[in-house]
Amino acid sequence: MKFASYDIVFQEIPNEITLAVNISDCPHRCKGCHSPHLQEDKGMPLNEDALRTFLAKYGAAITCVCFMGGDAEPEEVEKLSIFVRGETANRIKTAWYSGKAEFPESCSVASFDYIKTGPYMMHFGGLDSPDTNQRFYCVENGELIDRTLLFQKKSTNCC
Ligand code: SF4
Repeated sequence: MKFASYDIVFQEIPNEITLAVNISDCPHRCKGCHSPHLQEDKGMPLNEDALRTFLAKYGAAITCVCFMGGDAEPEEVEKLSIFVRGETANRIKTAWYSGKAEFPESCSVASFDYIKTGPYMMHFGGLDSPDTNQRFYCVENGELIDRTLLFQKKSTNCC
């Protein structure tokens, strides 16, 4: 699994300062894809060493690590999420922005604090669209709690 880029972001996960890691080799082919370069298998390896480097550099400034994509290797995303939690004694939360319509059965939602599902569909729009097909969940006690409305109301409350 590789990442093409990363950034510190504030909108993707409400109330968190998030290191968003953009994973390449996306298996989806959404019409109107916002990042077509992520459909190619290129970039730097995303593994425990890379995450250790990220945490050493940005760990004091962030509250969350978000895996953007990675649907070609869901079990690997889950493994790295568990690694981030372990390395930071759960201080840093984890999130997964998946393009899959449903959370993969091979993974556990409890391995993440936040999960977004759903491919990008132009006619429905993204999370901030009232017609969106995408869903944003907080994971509470191992259950998915739908908080998609946070993106549409521009509320500041989450979990
Ligand atoms: S999931 Fe994201 S990166 Fe992949 S094709 Fe769809 S819009 Fe593009």
